[in-house]
Amino acid sequence: MMLDELVNRHLGGGCDDCGACQTLTTDGAGIYVLTVSHDHSCPYLAGVTR
Ligand SMILES: [Zn+2]
Repeated sequence: MMLDELVNRHLGGGCDDCGACQTLTTDGAGIYVLTVSHDHSCPYLAGVTR
């Protein structure tokens, strides 16, 4: 599967502690960045930002 097919699409998962979703973005030069969006109530996210 080509990574390009997944760019800018919301993918489920990415966090064991909440219903996070992941978004894959690219800068167009072959660099792919996977961003995980956590729920606001995510205990993992609370632990990181505390
Ligand atoms: Zn989370």
